[in-house]
Amino acid sequence: MTEAFLHYIWQHQMVSSNLFTTNGQPVAVHRVGDLNRDAGPDFFNSHLSIDGVEWAGNIEVHLRSSDWNAHRHSQDPAYNNVILHVVYEHDCDIRLQNGTVPPTLELRRFIHPALVANYDSLMEPSSDDSIPCAQRLPQVPGFIVDSFLDRLTAERIEAKSQVVRRLLEESRGSWEQTCYWLIAHYFGGKVNALPFELLAKATDQRLLARWKDNPQRVEALLMGQAGLLEGYFEDDYPRLLQADYEALQAGASLKPVSGYLWRFFRLRPSAFPTIRISQFAHLVASSSNLFSTLLETPEADRLEKLFDCQAADYWNNHYRFDQSSSRSTVKRLGRMQAQLLIINAWVPLLFVYGEVRGQQQYKDQAIGILEQLPPEDNAVLRRCQAAGLNASNAARSQALLQLHNNYCLNRRCLNCRIGHSIIKQIPQEK
Ligand code: SF4
Repeated sequence: MTEAFLHYIWQHQMVSSNLFTTNGQPVAVHRVGDLNRDAGPDFFNSHLSIDGVEWAGNIEVHLRSSDWNAHRHSQDPAYNNVILHVVYEHDCDIRLQNGTVPPTLELRRFIHPALVANYDSLMEPSSDDSIPCAQRLPQVPGFIVDSFLDRLTAERIEAKSQVVRRLLEESRGSWEQTCYWLIAHYFGGKVNALPFELLAKATDQRLLARWKDNPQRVEALLMGQAGLLEGYFEDDYPRLLQADYEALQAGASLKPVSGYLWRFFRLRPSAFPTIRISQFAHLVASSSNLFSTLLETPEADRLEKLFDCQAADYWNNHYRFDQSSSRSTVKRLGRMQAQLLIINAWVPLLFVYGEVRGQQQYKDQAIGILEQLPPEDNAVLRRCQAAGLNASNAARSQALLQLHNNYCLNRRCLNCRIGHSIIKQIPQEK
């Protein structure tokens, strides 16, 4: 038994309908009260009748009555308006600051043992990586799982919106700039997100827009600003970029980021920053108003094509300047990476756009795009699948990731609608 579970029991009134205080007075609950997560009593504004007399005030919940004294509530005026002390186990009488003894309700007499057993089963430490309630999931009605997962899709997008809001604030409300910075951030993947973001911030989008039909110039500008064109090169291509960048530098005050920021270590060569910057240059060069273009593209397959950009031909047989590789392959970003960019960057941006503008249609468009995309494939989703939680699209896989990472891993079963459905299952009496 935990205090959090007692709060839950009281909040959802998972108790028998015939309640009595420890003095044998009948209790009728008209309003459980508002759960208070700050200092002071646990429930505010409760409304009860005790022995036929109506009371309005606060309720304090403890595992044992003696916790009242241990927490020194009898010396705290914040507890003067406690009308009922709800405890799991009554082990002593307690007093308010004015010396009166508040009525006590000992819950263990009124909770069905199955509720406690269900809760305990969810809290049991697991010996493997499986979803803790996997065995009980078949007993949860599908509509409960579906409606909760629908909510978690939005919750996951909200969680991802933090980066969007930060960049929107930094750009002073410019959606185009936020979009450019955000996409750059996610182009860097986990390892080079920050240098990519710094690169985008150091390179004015308007300057790039001037060369929008000349991807090589855009690449020269971005490679130079990335600090990757410094020194002597053997190959013609980096020398060309270098010359272009020097010419551009003469006409604008350009401050490159440090080339030392970029990480190549432990990356697949196709994800090297050199390749990604070239691909990003081609994406930026393909549209001077990326945000507006994306906004007018509600179809996931068209978005994929837009993002699935190709690095310059030089990179077909190079991963770094002056280092040729034996195999020649066209370096496209690839469908999977394009889908990740849509999921992580574009969908949260579109969602925030709808929220800030108060236009639900854009939030719906964001969810609609996720629904058109296939689910991701990773270890967490395979674990969910083993428990019978399947994803047919990215909206559902995003919800499952949110469920696993933010609920199951932290055992927030009391905040989970699936957990609620499991806890309240009481076997039929024969
Ligand atoms: S958080 Fe929900 S889905 Fe996860 S183990 Fe608890 S009850 Fe099950």
